Amino acid sequence: MLHYNIQGVRTGQRWSERFCQNIYSAIFQTIGDKMKTGGYVYGSGLFPPAGHDHESCKTRRLDQAEEVCQTRKLRLTPLRRRVLEIILESHEPIGAYAILARLAEEGKEGPPTVYRALNFLMGHKLIHRVASLNAYVGCAMPGQPHSGQFLICRSCRVLVELNDSEIDAAIRRRAREAGFSLEEQTLENFGVCPNCVGRQPS
Ligand SMILES: [Zn+2]
Ligand SMILES: [Zn+2]
Ligand SMILES: [Zn+2]
Repeated sequence: MLHYNIQGVRTGQRWSERFCQNIYSAIFQTIGDKMKTGGYVYGSGLFPPAGHDHESCKTRRLDQAEEVCQTRKLRLTPLRRRVLEIILESHEPIGAYAILARLAEEGKEGPPTVYRALNFLMGHKLIHRVASLNAYVGCAMPGQPHSGQFLICRSCRVLVELNDSEIDAAIRRRAREAGFSLEEQTLENFGVCPNCVGRQPS
């Protein structure tokens, strides 16, 4: 969010390109070792190993989301929180229908309220929408300025965020050279994750 505000400010001002990049890299530096590349690092890699303690992933992201809401004085209502919880249950993006089905089982609100909750969570970057899958995934670094750079496994559907500031900077530079007014950046990359590579297709 902040990232794009900064971009808006710098439009047409030569000096502020460096200013913008400095802020951006300063933010990334302060994120610390575990968050260096945008996603939480599990041992040696970005991809959560099969059989990892997912409860702690989920709790960590929920806590982060609550902190963001508190800082920004946003209301994480019980429904918004429940929608976020359902999305965070897995590293695989989940579709709106699956979320609606879960909430219907629990006797919770119908589609309009649920879509509003999804829009709230997206608007505040607590979740991302993965356009090519028409599905939602929890953000790996909620509340921190970043675009969406996703690595998505074709086999297990697990998604991780890459969030490389150099890739962002390269896109911003090339867009600017093309006279293109960049508003949003999302990169959805498909392949095979380290947990699935070499595994026989079932
Ligand atoms: Zn996990
Ligand atoms: Zn994110
Ligand atoms: Zn996989």
